[in-house]
Amino acid sequence: MKRDGHIHSPYCPHGTSDSFKQYIEKAIAHNFTDITFTEHAPLPISFVDPTPEQDSGMNPEFLMAYFEDLQHLQKQYVHDIRIHIGLEVDYIQGFEQETRKFLDTYGHFLDDSILSVHFLQWQNTFECIDFSAENFMKFSKKVGSIEQVYDLYYDTVLQSIKADLGPYKPRRIGHPSLIHKFQLAHKVKIDDSVRIREVLDFMKQEGYELDLNSAGLSKTYCQEPYPPFTFIDYSKSIGLPFVFGSDAHSVTDLHQHYNAIFPR
Ligand code: ZN
Ligand code: FE
Repeated sequence: MKRDGHIHSPYCPHGTSDSFKQYIEKAIAHNFTDITFTEHAPLPISFVDPTPEQDSGMNPEFLMAYFEDLQHLQKQYVHDIRIHIGLEVDYIQGFEQETRKFLDTYGHFLDDSILSVHFLQWQNTFECIDFSAENFMKFSKKVGSIEQVYDLYYDTVLQSIKADLGPYKPRRIGHPSLIHKFQLAHKVKIDDSVRIREVLDFMKQEGYELDLNSAGLSKTYCQEPYPPFTFIDYSKSIGLPFVFGSDAHSVTDLHQHYNAIFPR
């Protein structure tokens, strides 16, 4: 089995319009046997997206079309590749009820999905922590320090693992060191190894799997996968199941750095 379990789609409002077929044909050409499209689920209706274009989640009006397109493609490519229907669902502190309701309604369409933390709450405001280095710096000033933002991030990831989101809660935790995305911009070296191991241990204990996400290697200010290589080894040592994910938002980025993660 050769698998890429984290792929975006033409339904991503901040991605590209590259078509499903282009992604699928490339995956087949690279001998992948299993791929999951995990578009950003629509955000809770009462949540105000803090990003400037408010384009973090997909438009809820297109959700059924997204599922239907994928169901059709599953059948069309049944002899070539297994296409799994998924979503990347946001865990947002305080919005658990709404998120659960969403999953209760649409979860039966999902074969495979990811739960990710992109938004951190500080007092009564939210920030998208992977949007830009500039926003990240501003937010860390508000919170107090970069280290405090890291702690807030890991606390939120732990909460996402604990959260009761019902029977359709995703089983895979997305890129659980995303907070490293701008580490080479702020240049503050933080030893968060205890926190990362805490998160990985808790995932293992609670029966989750890891989104072993290569996208960070392509980010100018990150230059490492999520989680970093040392913690990929750690995950293996504790028997935490993982699924490679390129987190591609374009066909070019599909399967990015697969060979760096799994050298032959
Ligand atoms: Zn995205
Ligand atoms: Fe994500």
